Amino acid sequence: MEILKQIIKSSSFIKFERLIQSNRVSHCFLISSEDEEYNKQFCRAVILRLACNKKNAQDESNVPCFSCDNCLKILYSFHPDILVYPQKNTFLVEDSESILKNIAIKPMLMKYKIFIINNMDKSTNQAQNKILKILEDAPKNVIFLLNTTDVNNVLQTIISRTQIFNLEPLKVDEMSKILTDKIGSVNHIAIKLGKGWLGKTLALVGDKTLSEYDFVLNLLINMKSSKNIIDFVGKFSQKESFMIRLNILQEILEKILHAHFLISDDEKIQSLTKTFNVDCIYEILNLIVLSKRQFNANVSTVLITDYLLFKILEVKYICSLKK
Ligand SMILES: [Zn+2]
Repeated sequence: MEILKQIIKSSSFIKFERLIQSNRVSHCFLISSEDEEYNKQFCRAVILRLACNKKNAQDESNVPCFSCDNCLKILYSFHPDILVYPQKNTFLVEDSESILKNIAIKPMLMKYKIFIINNMDKSTNQAQNKILKILEDAPKNVIFLLNTTDVNNVLQTIISRTQIFNLEPLKVDEMSKILTDKIGSVNHIAIKLGKGWLGKTLALVGDKTLSEYDFVLNLLINMKSSKNIIDFVGKFSQKESFMIRLNILQEILEKILHAHFLISDDEKIQSLTKTFNVDCIYEILNLIVLSKRQFNANVSTVLITDYLLFKILEVKYICSLKK
């Protein structure tokens, strides 16, 4: 979430905000930067801004609340009025058929229906021509957010129908806050080499994250009694990786939550939907927020982990009773 918060404060987003304020929201934007991950996250920030219910009430900042129904549905990637393409790696005929089918359905929770198309430059000319056709005939209540890492590979005919928005790299302090949230410390080398590009910088710190993922996933699968929790507490609470683990735990729970609505192709994640129901996941996600706050207030990581893991076990037990 820190990524989205920092993007919303960034210079590029402020420029975008001006467009919204002056009612110059185009129905088709082409978000462009050399960084794929940054493009995608920027699009998410834009939809939060457009979809959030709370800021309607004359909130001067216009910052999305991150807690209303629309915001939560976007954060957990299952908002019915927002569709993301391509469904696989590149844009295919199936994708354009799916867009055409969905474009005809009125938005359910918002004024607009929003279609995000990632990596426009990686789709074939044929696919881009299909998209062009869709853009030409799109109804008024539809917004397209296309993104690209290479404008030169996007058809001129598409470009002329869109408002191009070039992203500027994030600033050092914005990236520092993102890394502090993600890995619990600032990695100055990654920030320097990443040059303000989100995906590049995260990839530079990513190796460490990858090895932690299995540990946290195994913990969720294997925690069964208070006895084996004591073993997990020792490892989980190591201070230098504590924040990484909390974030991975959050990420995995969000995946399980998502798998409750859309079947995941990750078997382990799908099987965890049997152990953790939706209410139970929300409860643990709140606990993670509390744990992060305690960590920032210098509470001992052993104490935080102890409370968190026992609480998860308890929630898991209560969930099993409700079945
Ligand atoms: Zn909101």
